[in-house]
Amino acid sequence: MSEPAAATCTSCGDAGVLLERVHRIYLTWPEDGGPAVERVVDEPELWCAVCRTQYPHEVR
Ligand SMILES: [Zn+2]
Repeated sequence: MSEPAAATCTSCGDAGVLLERVHRIYLTWPEDGGPAVERVVDEPELWCAVCRTQYPHEVR
């Protein structure tokens, strides 16, 4: 994993914004209609404030 020279949001690609290290959470819904299952991505991403309000994630 290599860090980009200029920090950009991993999710939307915005540059020059305040970024925070988060772990994205993927929500999947089983075909049987059960409750959503959360899967937390191990690899950290850098997200801007907008993405952090719009998408599920975890801060460790
Ligand atoms: Zn973003």
